[in-house]
Formats: sequence, C-alpha cells, structure tokens
Amino acid sequence: MNALQLLEFLVSTPSVSGNEDKIASDLSGSLSGKGFMVQREGDSVWFTLGKRERPHLLLLSHLDTVPPCTGWNSDPFEAHIEDGKLIGLGANDAKGCVAAMISAAHEIQHRNYEGSITFAFVADEERGGEGIRAIKPKLGHIDAAVVGEPTGLQVCTAQRGLLILRCTAHGKASHAAHAHLGKNAIHKAARDILRLAVMEFDAHENLGATRAEVTQIAGGLARNQVPDRCEFSVDLRTTPNLDHATVADEIGAMLESEVTIHSHRYEPVATNASEVVVRAALEVAGASAGIGSVTTSDWAFLKGIPTVKVGPGNTNRSHRPNEYLLSSELKEGVVFYSQFVQTYFRMAAKEVVHV
Ligand SMILES: [Zn+2]
Repeated sequence: MNALQLLEFLVSTPSVSGNEDKIASDLSGSLSGKGFMVQREGDSVWFTLGKRERPHLLLLSHLDTVPPCTGWNSDPFEAHIEDGKLIGLGANDAKGCVAAMISAAHEIQHRNYEGSITFAFVADEERGGEGIRAIKPKLGHIDAAVVGEPTGLQVCTAQRGLLILRCTAHGKASHAAHAHLGKNAIHKAARDILRLAVMEFDAHENLGATRAEVTQIAGGLARNQVPDRCEFSVDLRTTPNLDHATVADEIGAMLESEVTIHSHRYEPVATNASEVVVRAALEVAGASAGIGSVTTSDWAFLKGIPTVKVGPGNTNRSHRPNEYLLSSELKEGVVFYSQFVQTYFRMAAKEVVHV
C-alpha cells in the first residue's frame, strides 16, 4: 500500500471521536501484517522501531475526526480523488499526517539509527485528549516528540493553551419597583465584563497577546425582578509565558464575581530553538525559525518534552466541508518525516550529554 492508498483506506474508515474501534482494529491488523509489533490501549495504537533505547523519539498523530458538518458535495466517509486532491473527512486533519508517518516508518523500518522511535496514532484528540493521556505512561521516557497536524510542513514551536473560567456574580433579589432593597447581580457582572474586556497580559514573542473573551452569559429570572445571580464564561487562549493558576488568581482578585476554573488542561507549550528536535525539523523544512500555532492539539499533554508540531496539509481546511489533502502534499509529508528521523538521530548523536 502506498501513502495515497493508505490515506484512502484511513479516510474511508469512519472514526468520529468515540467511534475509533474499527479504524484501530483495521490499522493494527494491517501494521502487524507488515511486521510492526503493534500495541493497543483503548482505540490508540503504537509501535516502536530501533535497537537502542535512547534517544527515544515519539511521532504522534490522531485517528479520530470531528463529526461531519453540512455543506459536503460528496459522502464525507468515502474517500475520492479529484484533480490531485484526496477528499474526505479527516483527509487533512489528521489522517494525512498518519499516512505520511506510517509510510515514513516503512521506509526506515530496516535502517540502523542510534536510538528508538515510537509511532503512536491515538483516539479522542478532537474531544479531550483521552487517547494520548492513557498511553503516555506506557511509552517510557521520551526525549523528543513530533505531533502530526496540518501545518503546511511549517515547523511549529509554540502552541496556545486554553483556560476556561466560570464566573458567578451574586446579588440580592427584590421587586424591580423596590430595587433599593436588592443588589443587581447582572450589574455586578457587567462591571466585571468591562474589566475583562480591557485586561492585558504580557505578549508572547511568537504568539502575541492573550485576551480574556467573555463567551457566554446567563442571568435573571423575570423581567420585574432584580436578579440575584448572573453567570458568565471566559475563554482565554493562553501563551506559554502565562501560567494558568496565576492567571485565574489574578482574574479572581480583580473581579467582584466568584471565579472558578472550568478547564485548564490544555496547557500552552513551547520548545526552545536550541533543542535538537527543533534544529532537525527546521533543517529539513529549510526554514530559519519556528512559527506559533493558535490551535490546541495533543502537544498540550506532552508538556516538558521538547516537541514540534508539523505535518502536511493546511489547518484552514480542518473541520470544514470538502476537506482534502493534495497527493503532492502527502508525498512531501512522507519525505519530510523520513528525512527528519535521520536528521534528528544524526544531530542527537553529536550532542554532548551533560550529566
Ligand atoms: Zn487534528
């Protein structure tokens, strides 16, 4: 199976998050048949190549997709090829990366390199990262990682996180005609929302500023009653120079409303330009510096491991109708990953190990 046939097979096997059993079974069957020692946990699969344990490189991408949206001109679960494009749900995000990584694994399967590589294709990336979080403790020590997501093969070295706060303004109910007897929770929330709208955070060199966006609000029970409660949500796409707990504390101290953390697990992440994984990826990409990425990914769960996010395709095509990957992009992806692996181990072997 060449890379394009592999992508056709992956796209034609539906795998909306929560329904990855078939793709995990079919893929592990096919990989085992090619001589890879496949392991499986839930609906995530992985295999390791190489004779020496360290350095241990992880190549990671995801098998699941979002549900199909409206506006498709063809069956989203049936891959078809037209004008050099492979069209179908997940073709771009991220089955193209999976197909490119597996094809690269075939190319390097019998080569010698000083270290080991784990290829992992996980479930549930689009829904909360349960797949990577479940297998990570089983992978052993990881020295560096590549997360396969459509970046147009640009090397992404910083990724925004996501912090969601729930805020509750408490007041005192009264008849609107006797408003002096009550305390208006919506007015309190309004003052807080204006504070958030002008709040400023230190900008990140690569990703820019973080904003506190109020995205939902609910309050008041009747048109003639002073409301005693108003709730609103704040969405912060955080940058690696910000710490989630500190940001939540700062906002809590600034607002009159009660502030609780609703979600903080998508941590912002960045990798230093001096890391081997960054230097190797930039050399293969022919680029001088990494880029920043605003979308979250499973990288958020690899905090502390030098990581880059890079893969064939274009993030603007993800989660949209008529999603596609060019077959030329897929080929470039295979070349990129296989050259990257060789470059990484060549550079890592030259590194002085400081104990
Ligand atoms: Zn993705």
